[in-house]
Amino acid sequence: MIRPVLFVGGLDSSGGAGLLRDAATAAVLDQPARVAATAVTAQGTGGVAAVHPVPPGTVAAQIGLAAQEGLATVKIGMLATAATVAAVASALPPGVPMVLDPVLRASSGGVLLKPDGLAALLALLVPRAALLTPNIPELAAIGGALGLPSGAAEDLVVQGLLDAGCGAVLVKGGHRDTPAICEDRLYRGGHDPVAMRAPRLARTLRGTGCHLASAIAVHVGRGAGMAEAVALARDHLRARFEAG
Ligand code: PLP
Repeated sequence: MIRPVLFVGGLDSSGGAGLLRDAATAAVLDQPARVAATAVTAQGTGGVAAVHPVPPGTVAAQIGLAAQEGLATVKIGMLATAATVAAVASALPPGVPMVLDPVLRASSGGVLLKPDGLAALLALLVPRAALLTPNIPELAAIGGALGLPSGAAEDLVVQGLLDAGCGAVLVKGGHRDTPAICEDRLYRGGHDPVAMRAPRLARTLRGTGCHLASAIAVHVGRGAGMAEAVALARDHLRARFEAG
């Protein structure tokens, strides 16, 4: 029996990101999925118009029922509030690998996790994550929340996350100041960082962070090692990107 992947995250009414993107990624990869909705958002071309968090008890109930079926992996995206972070942490089944995308803001700038939510995320979920997938602005915010000086080097912030108990960190390079290439870096304790480069594409698409983390969670659930899962997910994302 193929065990499902559970996606925990927000509903983006525009369909570009969040749970709809996660579910679409799972469908393309022929992967059964379950979802636990953390928030309903209203989003459009002007950005995030409204965020309505789902009550934490309802979030925990969704996760609890999915966990009873036996899960391959869990992928976590938007969490909205510190109370939701705590509910998710208490409901997560033990022993199931978890990929954590630390979603803080939409690319439009709208806030998707309240400021005290980041501290809760670092304390309660990062230690349980097999992989954390920050982009550069998220890594900078995490460095601040860890008490590091602003502008702290990438490897210093990553070390703080690995010391907190996170299994691996994939720093996504979409925001790096490299016009011709996009370089993601995978950090794991006891290994040299692995740089994964590809030509930068001219186009930007919404929901690429959700898409990448979801595809990684699917491949980890199928038994791939972390570096292999990341490489497969990057290939998948690039193929979808090129197809438009
Ligand atoms: N809305 C939801 C519910 C999300 O989970 C995310 C990202 O994970 C976003 C919006 C942000 O997507 P984008 O960066 O494409 O605006």
